[in-house]
Amino acid sequence: ADTVRLLSSSQVITSVVNVVKELVENSMDAGALSIDVKLENYGLDRIEVRDNGHGIKTADTPVMAVRHFTSKICSHEDLNHLETYGFRGEALGSICAVAEVSITTKTNEDDISTQYMLDLTGHIVSQKPSHLGQGTTVSVLKLFMNLPVRRQYYSSTKKCKDELKKVQDLLMAYAIIKPELRVTLAHNKVVVWQKTKVADHRSALVATLGPSAVASLLPCHHHHEEPEILLDGFFPKPGADYLSSSSSSQDKTFIFVNNRPVHHKDIMKLLRQHYTAQYEEEATRNRHPILMLKVTVSPSSVDVNLTPDKTQVLLHHKEALLTAVEALLVSLYGFRAT
Ligand code: ADP
Ligand code: MG
Repeated sequence: ADTVRLLSSSQVITSVVNVVKELVENSMDAGALSIDVKLENYGLDRIEVRDNGHGIKTADTPVMAVRHFTSKICSHEDLNHLETYGFRGEALGSICAVAEVSITTKTNEDDISTQYMLDLTGHIVSQKPSHLGQGTTVSVLKLFMNLPVRRQYYSSTKKCKDELKKVQDLLMAYAIIKPELRVTLAHNKVVVWQKTKVADHRSALVATLGPSAVASLLPCHHHHEEPEILLDGFFPKPGADYLSSSSSSQDKTFIFVNNRPVHHKDIMKLLRQHYTAQYEEEATRNRHPILMLKVTVSPSSVDVNLTPDKTQVLLHHKEALLTAVEALLVSLYGFRAT
């Protein structure tokens, strides 16, 4: 049973960024407006995510990290109205199987917070009172301690630095999609990135990408009917230098489907084709258009179960979506990419 648990966990939890993603999504699902992420030794020694969300009810704590427990959906039918990032009850259980986990939590009904130490199966081994305020803090120590090959993968400093960058990019995506969120990222006790609460998506873009990057962006909308698809975003102004000029490989194309940051290959391809059409091939290498695209569709037409990490989504109306994006591009720039 231990081997099976380890195997299936290692498919859900594949990297440091993956752990951070699951924990941050839990915080957002708990309505947190403040999230602090702390890493030590690039997350290999310690990953801690602290939020000010609604906390975990005492009655739920014995099962909170047990595989398949979720407080978010009750029936299969609920999947058609999904408004939370989580729904499978797999993340905490899987993280427990590959690290030393403790969870400190307090709801507004509790007088004080309690810290729970968990074993590899996600069950509580001990608990003690804690001084933390309302919300939840999850600490993940010695990630992949029982998966030496995976730990070995992080032995190079370059891999570790790439991973830290990915964590930052991920937090940026959540910061953009939820402007009211305050978020900090610290590595070895030094704050490497932070964003304060702001009022709207444009301010969130300024806070994450900087004012100069955002100065050349225009708000845009497109409404596609049957199936209903809403597109909202910020796209480069006609005539602007479309591509991110930063020499970093950082991806500045932020795409969301129903508020979920996603890697949508077909949309990315369409955008890239469009924006690089007027450049020499050499000039476009590792450069991405700076833009934000927020796709809203009926929850029943999205299947987020495609990959364990939920970063790829299956849309039932892919062609309609691409047509809608193309129409948005045409309305902005007056020409077609292809
Ligand atoms: P899922 O998110 O799919 O429900 P998880 O394994 O990620 O599954 O979390 C299990 C449960 O633990 C959640 O359904 C929720 O009830 C609780 N939980 C986890 N993290 C938090 C948090 N930061 N704040 C409040 N509740 C949490
Ligand atoms: Mg979750």
